[in-house]
Amino acid sequence: MKRVLVVGAGFGGISAAAFLARDGYDVTVLEKNSWVGGRAREFSREGFRFDMGPSWYWMPQEHDRWFREMGRSREEFYEIHRVDPSYRVYFDSPLGEEGEYYLDLPADPQGARDVFERLEPGSGGRLSRYLEDCAAKYRLAMDSFVFRNYYSIADFLHPRVIPHLPRLNLFQSYGSRVRRQVRHGALQKILEFPVVFLGSRAGKTPAVYTLMNHVDFSLGTWYPQGGFSAVARAMQQVCEDLGVRFRLGHEVTELSLEGRRVRAASVRTQAGETYQEEFDLVVANADYHHVEQQLLPPEYRSVSPGRWDRLSLAPAVVNYYLAFDRPLEEFQHHTFFFDAPWEEHFHAVYEKPRWIKKPLFYLHLPSRTDKTCAPPGKEALFLLIPVAAGLEDTPEQRRIYLEHALDRMEEKTGRPLRKHLMFQESMSLKEFSADYHAFKGNAFGLGQTLFQTAWFRLKNRSKKVSNLYYAGQYTLPGTGTTMSMISGEVTAARVQAGR
Ligand SMILES: Cc1cc2nc3c(=O)[nH]c(=O)nc-3n(C[C@H](O)[C@H](O)[C@H](O)COP(=O)(O)OP(=O)(O)OC[C@H]3O[C@@H](n4cnc5c(N)ncnc54)[C@H](O)[C@@H]3O)c2cc1C
Repeated sequence: MKRVLVVGAGFGGISAAAFLARDGYDVTVLEKNSWVGGRAREFSREGFRFDMGPSWYWMPQEHDRWFREMGRSREEFYEIHRVDPSYRVYFDSPLGEEGEYYLDLPADPQGARDVFERLEPGSGGRLSRYLEDCAAKYRLAMDSFVFRNYYSIADFLHPRVIPHLPRLNLFQSYGSRVRRQVRHGALQKILEFPVVFLGSRAGKTPAVYTLMNHVDFSLGTWYPQGGFSAVARAMQQVCEDLGVRFRLGHEVTELSLEGRRVRAASVRTQAGETYQEEFDLVVANADYHHVEQQLLPPEYRSVSPGRWDRLSLAPAVVNYYLAFDRPLEEFQHHTFFFDAPWEEHFHAVYEKPRWIKKPLFYLHLPSRTDKTCAPPGKEALFLLIPVAAGLEDTPEQRRIYLEHALDRMEEKTGRPLRKHLMFQESMSLKEFSADYHAFKGNAFGLGQTLFQTAWFRLKNRSKKVSNLYYAGQYTLPGTGTTMSMISGEVTAARVQAGR
């Protein structure tokens, strides 16, 4: 039986481990931290529980399919609930006659069309036609691109796929496609925000990714009971039932080679012990840059320093986990503050990295749906502000961003927050670098621009080390928990194919 080492127990690593164990490999997962799930991690204190990373459970049918692939069912492990309204968005100026600064996007499609129609007459009908096109893009992408390995450019330009390329609008931007559908600024923002999940910006993202609007409006936003850690633990259980061994608190510090093959991994435990272990092949789920630059000798690195400089990274984040002693009815489970200059924020994240005066931000209130996240009458709130990867992260700057956010939350809702704040914790670039070895402290891996998609994305097999594969958000098919799970599947298929 071939011995496989999976480096890292993120969604990509756990998924690869499961597929490989199912297919007869002897799999060991070494994870530097003390939990499974990687960036999908939780923080608990005084009866409050926060998801520290992912909070949007999108494409639930893909999660269900993952468990079925393993001969199991997701329902054995955790429940999911549709979040309704899908989200609330605060804007800079009042939207309705009532003078509210926000709108709620209902989960029900007719309700969503009504919201559009109210703000821009005629846009409700256009939304239906637009979403049909997004659904067609989604099906085409899932059937033809997402589950594939790309061994050469010919796989990308496959004869089966070429007839459909015009429908994908690869050479049109997401932003321009949205702007052809709606003129109202608020509606444009609602259709454009999913690019943040892609670690990209609307003007630079190919319009094929408007399939995300199908994911948002039609497949819906769900919440896994127990949060994303419950999802990771369920996946771990499935792996263990298949014979996978997890060693938490075990960091891989070096991959030793014999010729063009990894022969052994050097490991350091949290207790400070070191040892070496031999494997037949390695799937690296840890950050791609860390594996290439720190675990491999220089002559075996496939990605040059110049290419790393040119790659478009997904954003980093300033995250705050805030506990309140009152229910926060003024917010929904998912709430955005789009009351700030849109282009300026994206420019500061992607074009000219800098801290700005008025950033956009997002709030997650899991306790609105899951009462186990906060004691009765209290609320757990996670504040996320996307920022450029590589910025200098200082306590002062984090505090400035928190104060900005609290000011705007109090101003837009007219309700005091600060005096109800019980405690706060934060996490930003420094923790991402230290805890995950994240390149430039980024949060979501590699952006999904046209030239970082499919064949053009970082490869899931090393060009120079024949038994080294990659899985996770930097490689195929893309970023996010669902794509990272699929990444494990795609990489396991490549291992099986031996190509
Ligand atoms: C704040 C935040 C919000 C997000 N929101 C969402 C969302 O709402 N929905 C969504 O779908 N996605 C979201 N994402 C993205 C999603 O979490 C990631 O894309 C996904 O979890 C990445 O999984 P991965 O397996 O590629 O990597 P990771 O989760 O980073 O896993 C890699 C693992 O490798 C380990 N490791 C690193 N180096 C070593 C080493 N040398 N030895 C051993 N182990 C090592 C790390 O500790 C880590 O556990 C969010 C991410 C963040 C940070």
